[in-house]
Amino acid sequence: MTPIALVGIGKIALDQHVPAINASPDWTLAASVSRNGSVPGVQSFTTIEAMLDARPDIPVVSLALPPVPRFAYAVAALQAGRHVMLEKPPGATLAEIHALRDLAAQKGLSLYATWHSRMARGVAPAKAWLRAATITRAHITWREDVRKWHPGQDWVFEPGGMGVFDPGINALSILTEILPMPVHLTEATLTYPENRQTPIAATLRFSGNVTADFDWRQEGPQTWDIEVETADGTLTLRQGGAVLELDGKPQPLGQTPGEYPALYARMADLVRTRASDIDLAPMIHVADAMTLGRREVTGAFHF
Ligand code: NAP
Repeated sequence: MTPIALVGIGKIALDQHVPAINASPDWTLAASVSRNGSVPGVQSFTTIEAMLDARPDIPVVSLALPPVPRFAYAVAALQAGRHVMLEKPPGATLAEIHALRDLAAQKGLSLYATWHSRMARGVAPAKAWLRAATITRAHITWREDVRKWHPGQDWVFEPGGMGVFDPGINALSILTEILPMPVHLTEATLTYPENRQTPIAATLRFSGNVTADFDWRQEGPQTWDIEVETADGTLTLRQGGAVLELDGKPQPLGQTPGEYPALYARMADLVRTRASDIDLAPMIHVADAMTLGRREVTGAFHF
């Protein structure tokens, strides 16, 4: 098993990364880096530099920080000759990720821009079903309660936090994986709370009759659906890709390891083959929405 360091011990690190690494046949969690957080039984550091200096035996660093602080950590790890795994969204800007991609290539290291939602059970079968389809319309409905999923995380409403695109980019990561043709954004309306820097809701229109509705204000049942109409019937992914329906009928899906175990297995493959996996398509759509979006203002938002 290869030693790996996990950086940014917060919500997703504890919910998903630590259990996935602990259950992995490929990795052993050898160190954590976090200003406040730690993992019981694992050597902890408060700066990336201290960890990189003290543990030259750790060849891989997984960064579970929010996007804005993540870039400096990624540069430090790559400069120190370590392979790097990035949480989604892979950066605060596209240029940052181009810089990381170039640095990793120059150093001969693996860089993996992960998209955990692409590992949901229904995504690969949906992609296979749509491979030869003629798409007539597609619609994403991604409506969740920010207070439930990001309690007190003010960074999501700060510049670079992406607001409702933090979950919305998960939907776009699935869309860009399953559609047999590329699409591009043509129109967007972004709704900003009057006291915040990032949108709390967005409606998007793409080429190819593809639309999306993202909203972070949904209480009660949560909706993470993608419906794709084709000349041969309608494919629907529900529950973030965990459920696949064809013409309304749920399809049997094989057992899969789970989203985060699948990401860590993929990282093991990338490191073994000295390859990188950096698909920016989901983030390009978000950047385009920020570029082209019409702004609307709604009431103040407080956690
Ligand atoms: P989080 O809990 O708010 O942050 C993770 C940790 O990063 C924090 O506990 C903090 O640890 C460190 N951190 C935060 N700001 C920092 C800064 N300015 N400088 C250095 N370290 C900082 O966030 P999260 O929910 O885990 O999300 C992290 C990433 O995972 C995001 O990109 C998010 O989109 C993605 N993600 C989140 C979820 C989810 O359900 N929350 C699901 C999938 C993916 P210390 O204070 O100990 O340094």
